[in-house]
Amino acid sequence: MFIVIIVRGVFLVKVGIIGSTGFEFYRICDSYIEKEIIVDLESIKYLSGDFHGIDIYFFVRNIRKGACPPHSVDYLRIMKAMQLLQVNSILATSVVGSLRPEYKPGDHIIIDQFLDFTKYRIFTVYNKDEFAFVDFTYPYCNSLRQVLANSCEKIGVDYKESGCYVGVDGPRFETAAEVKAYSILGGDVVGMTNIPEVILARELGLCYATIALIVNYGAGIEGNLVLRKDCREEVNKHIDKTVDIIRNALSNIRNREYCDCYLKADDIITN
Ligand SMILES: [Zn+2]
Repeated sequence: MFIVIIVRGVFLVKVGIIGSTGFEFYRICDSYIEKEIIVDLESIKYLSGDFHGIDIYFFVRNIRKGACPPHSVDYLRIMKAMQLLQVNSILATSVVGSLRPEYKPGDHIIIDQFLDFTKYRIFTVYNKDEFAFVDFTYPYCNSLRQVLANSCEKIGVDYKESGCYVGVDGPRFETAAEVKAYSILGGDVVGMTNIPEVILARELGLCYATIALIVNYGAGIEGNLVLRKDCREEVNKHIDKTVDIIRNALSNIRNREYCDCYLKADDIITN
């Protein structure tokens, strides 16, 4: 299921990038080629580029024409495309709301845990005839998380090296009661895209980590309304830092050490 390609004794690094709202892909590579790949009989577009010798496969969550809300993103086909392209590391960007006063808008956070409150997503790559009980003790790739942390340190951005992501369906924002409940349960930030992305990646044996930009306080923390235009303004203010984090991280992925993410899904049960 997971293929390691050795070229002249070194890893041929193939990195998938999943871009969130406002993430300007063209600033990662100097140029891209638009390509398509067939996944489950349907074509999916992506951008292929080179970043100092690293093959980059860039996907935006909004792969269909027109506005695509987070509950309509085709997460499964994006992840299957990554697998077909033999991508071995995925760096995702996302925007999140804070559930705690100490997690401030403008800060970045390297997620390490999640609480899944989604209800209407395709949440697994498996079906009733073929499945696995996959370990999710640490759902995000620790090697990639470390690369992102090193990148944040080097650039000098304010960041949290860990945090619990509460995944919700959206597209509505949360109520004040939900924000309070999520924080009591241990959540630090809330968002609408990491679930099921991180789940599908782990089930497919792909290394996956996300760098999230905090764009607002959750409902009821500051007393203000949560408005999309305010979140968007915060994205525009800080997206350059997110891009810098990714670019710096890419330079270090080529030397990353062996990772065992693909071992988590080795026990496939067939009926
Ligand atoms: Zn990994």
